[in-house]
Amino acid sequence: MTMKSQLQVEAIRQGTVIDHIPAGQALNILKLFHFLDTKDRITVGFNLPSKAFGHKDIIKVENVSITEEQSNQLALFAPKATVNIIDDFKVVKKRQLSLPERITNVFKCPNSNCITHYEPVAISNFKIINNNGKIQLKCKYCEKVFDREIVTNNI
Ligand SMILES: [Zn+2]
Repeated sequence: MTMKSQLQVEAIRQGTVIDHIPAGQALNILKLFHFLDTKDRITVGFNLPSKAFGHKDIIKVENVSITEEQSNQLALFAPKATVNIIDDFKVVKKRQLSLPERITNVFKCPNSNCITHYEPVAISNFKIINNNGKIQLKCKYCEKVFDREIVTNNI
């Protein structure tokens, strides 16, 4: 077995494997879930070869099972990601991703005039809009609509 394929298939005893992340999104996902704030062991692969995407990122987090709500937030960054919950080296659950209706308190509103930047009590709140496959987010407060990439780069 080559070094490269070993790294891709290296198993974890217990935790979560997020695979098929579009290349370049793994860092955003680490920030989204605050994985780096924990002491759990995290393995990240960047720009791994992928038959489906050309290149992909992969994240393995030990001792953490991400929730259904987190999986749905993940869908904003990586709609085709696969989430495998691992126990005793086996996949015990595969989570299906579906876009949430709303996402709160994760992203900042890209509109610098939005009240959420000035009122400490107002937490960000976006409605998710699927516009013929193009994902957009509408701010509850300023009611502006942004493309997904603009909001998710603003984490
Ligand atoms: Zn806003």
